[in-house]
Order: sequence, then C-alpha cells, then structure tokens
Amino acid sequence: MKSLFLGKIFGIELELHWTFLLVMIFVIISQAIFSPQTFLPIIFLFFMLFLSVFLHELCHSLVSLSKHIKVKKIMLLPIGGVALSERMPENPKDEFLIAIAGPLFNFLVVFVLLAVVSVFNLPFPWEFFNNPQNIAKFEEYLLTYPLFAVLWVNFMLGAFNLFVPALPLDGGRVFRSLLALKFDYVKATHLATRASTIFAIMLFFLGFFSGSFMLTIIAALIYLGSNQEDQLVTLKHAFSHITISHLIKKRPFVIDESKTLKEAKELMLKKNVTSLLVKRNKGYGIILSEDIVKQKANIDSQISKYAAELPILSANSASSDVMEKFYTTGHPFLPIIHNSKLIGILEASSLEKLQKLHILQKLKP
Ligand SMILES: [Zn+2]
Repeated sequence: MKSLFLGKIFGIELELHWTFLLVMIFVIISQAIFSPQTFLPIIFLFFMLFLSVFLHELCHSLVSLSKHIKVKKIMLLPIGGVALSERMPENPKDEFLIAIAGPLFNFLVVFVLLAVVSVFNLPFPWEFFNNPQNIAKFEEYLLTYPLFAVLWVNFMLGAFNLFVPALPLDGGRVFRSLLALKFDYVKATHLATRASTIFAIMLFFLGFFSGSFMLTIIAALIYLGSNQEDQLVTLKHAFSHITISHLIKKRPFVIDESKTLKEAKELMLKKNVTSLLVKRNKGYGIILSEDIVKQKANIDSQISKYAAELPILSANSASSDVMEKFYTTGHPFLPIIHNSKLIGILEASSLEKLQKLHILQKLKP
C-alpha cells in the first residue's frame, strides 16, 4: 500500500500513511451511518487532530533545518506523525531544541486559545474546569465547543509527547539529550532505552488490565522504537572509524532518465539485476523491478516519472553516517560521488555484512 502524497512545504514532502486513510474512511462512514447528528463535530475534531499533528511535526522540522539537518518527509500516521530527517542530531543541545519544538507549539496553541476565548468572551465550557463531576459531560463539551476541541487535541498532543520520557517520543529525546550532557551519546542512549523499556512494560500491563487496546499498542511501539534506536546508535558508534571506500561497487548499471521503463526492463533482464541507477538531469535516482511491474500499463513512459531520487554519498564518508542514510531512506543502494564524479554505488547488503561481522567479532570467546 502506498501513502498519499499531499504536497511539499519548505522542501519537505508531506505524506498521509495508508492506515491514516483507512481510519479516516472508517470514521466518516461509521459516523454517517450510526450518528449523523454528530457527523460534523467529529469530522472537525479529526481534521483538527490532523492539522495539529502536522504543525507539530513541521515545528520539529523547521528547527532541524535551522541546525542544517535536512528533513526528507513528514509522514502522518493515525497515532501521530514522524519527520524523517537525513541524520540524527548528535549535539545534545540541538536534539533538545528539535525535540521540544513540537510540544511547545501545541502548548502555545493552548495558551493562545485560552487568551482569545477569555478576551473575546467566546463560548467555552469553563464549568468543565470548575467541577470534577463535569468530566462526565466531557464528550458533549468536545462536540459542542469547537475551540475546546482544538484546545484539548493540542493539550493532549503536547503533554503525551513531552511528558512521557520514553524514546522515540519527544520526551525521550529530551531525556536523552539531558543524559548526554553527563554521559557520552551511546551511554545516554542505552540509559534512555532502558528507562523506555521499563516504561513500555508498565504501560503494557496497564493497558492489558484496564482493557485499553490503544495503550498496549503504544507500549509496543515504544519498546520497538527505543530498542531500534539503541541498536542504530551503538552500530553507528562502532563504525565511526571505518570508511566505506573498500566496499564500493565500481561498475553499477546506469540508465538515463530519458529512457523508457521498457528499456529499463530489458537492461535488468540482460544484466540479471532488479534495480538500476538512474542518471538524472541533476543527481541520481533509482528504478526497481517492482516499479516496472506496478507501472506495466505505462511501460512506454520515461523512467524520469517513476525513478525515486537518491541521496548522494561521498567516498570518504564514515560508514556510521552511511548506515544512517540507508536506515532513514530504505534504498537498496546509494551512489558514491568523488570530486563531483560518480565512482560507484554502495549496496545495503555490504553494510549488512559488515554489521554481522562486527557482531561476530564482539562475541566473547
Ligand atoms: Zn514530536
């Protein structure tokens, strides 16, 4: 399933994950059938959630860009968003600022809304805050007062992201950046991951015994996300002294972007490969056999329309940076440039081999 491309802002691609679309369609249909009287407020709430998550991620991304960290895309998932950047900030101060920007935006919205409704005396359920018994009417308030709904969505997003000190959530990043002031980055990540794991286990049991399916899912995401990050940081550190030059494959199969998918298919079959490096007007791209199969109806169209753009590596990059680029982009190979000339490609499989050898090497006798 593909995600839905919505557009580009500040050079960052915005995409809706297909699960988001699925949830959206489900909400629209079930609301229209079962409770048409609350259809509009629910759709409004949903749209506000979408907008708030997007702006939250955009704030992270803008701070990243100001720290010279390129952000490739913002992906919106039903449980929140992710901004995919080309590398992780290793400076604790940068990481702190990037992590805190998203939740701060949400709290700013809460603050501005409270000021606006009190200054202009707009309809707002103030009684909700005065009497704890009014909690029972929470849903009613949410659906009758649009500004209260926007406020609530932003408060929850900000609080959940900032005050849960678990990786890969923003609170976990803030926590790690603070640890990194005292320990080195690898140690700080280890400690933050251990805390996240304990937190995830607690959350899982809480979800299990309270019957909250959502909590158990969040617990699983925290567990997997934090441990994956720990692994990446450890490997990056282990490889920080190795350069990739000896892993380069010198003669990749290249095709020009003006050629057709049919010509790409023929070249793949002739050379026994499932992916080709695409020479673009500016830079390089990649075309996979899957792309050709998917576009079989357009087999006579130019490759340029279907080739994904590839980030470029330099021959003397440390393999730790390279690994991160593979990790964040998920491509099977990346082009290597030296003095603005293509000297070859690096395949993800070579790095995987290096990783396995490293694990083997670390095995105690
Ligand atoms: Zn965030």
